[in-house]
Amino acid sequence: MSTNYYARFGICEKCGRYDEIHLGKLSTGWKFLFRWNSNQYADIYSFAKFINRRDVKIYDENEEKIEPERLLNLIGKSQSLKSHHSELDGYYLKDIKGYEFMVEDFN
Ligand SMILES: [Zn+2]
Repeated sequence: MSTNYYARFGICEKCGRYDEIHLGKLSTGWKFLFRWNSNQYADIYSFAKFINRRDVKIYDENEEKIEPERLLNLIGKSQSLKSHHSELDGYYLKDIKGYEFMVEDFN
C-alpha cells in the first residue's frame, strides 16, 4: 500500500487555480521517498519549511488534506524502515543525510 502526497500553492482566490508539485510517496515498510524539487526544497529542513508555508496546502492522492505536522511525523517514523538504495540506481536517488529524494517523476 502506498500514498502519494502533493503540495498546492499560489492558490488564486478569484479563480481557484493553483500550482501543484509531487512531494513524494509513503509505501508500507519503506522510507518516505521524496520527489526532488530543488526550486522549493533540497533537504528535510527546507522541505519542512516549505510545507509549513501559509500559502502551501498538502493533499494526498485521495484529495484528503493533511497537516504538515502529520506528514512530517509520518516521514520521521518511516526513516527507520527500508531504504530505496536497494531498488533505485544511485543516479536517480539523492540521499541527503538519510532522507531519500528521487530526481525523476514517479508515483
Ligand atoms: Zn485566478
